Amino acid sequence: MKDHGSGHDSKHGHYEMYQKMMQISGAKGGYHRDQIFDEEKRSDYLRCLHCRRTYLRGEYRDVDGFQMCPYEGCDGSTVLDGIDWERFREDYPQYPEIPERGKVYGM
Ligand SMILES: [Zn+2]
Repeated sequence: MKDHGSGHDSKHGHYEMYQKMMQISGAKGGYHRDQIFDEEKRSDYLRCLHCRRTYLRGEYRDVDGFQMCPYEGCDGSTVLDGIDWERFREDYPQYPEIPERGKVYGM
C-alpha cells in the first residue's frame, strides 16, 4: 500500500479546483470531464498525465465523489489530468490510433 498521507496538501488544492470547476459548469452526474469541458470529442481514449497510461473515455475510479484515473494508486483525475489521445498523438504521431491498455506512453 502507498502512503496516502504524503502530499495531502497539494492534493487538497487539486480537489478544490476540481470542485470549483464542477460548480461553475453545473456538472452533477455522468462523466464530469465531458460536462466541465466543452471538448470536441476526438477519440475514445484519454491519457493520464500522472501515470502516462491510457484508458477509455468514460472510465474512472470514484474517490470521494471525484472521478480519478482508473489505474489503482494513481492520483491523477480524469478532469484535470487527462488529455485526449488524438490530441496527444498530434505531438506523438508514432503512437498507435488505439493505445495499449496499461502501457506507459510519452515522457
Ligand atoms: Zn493515472
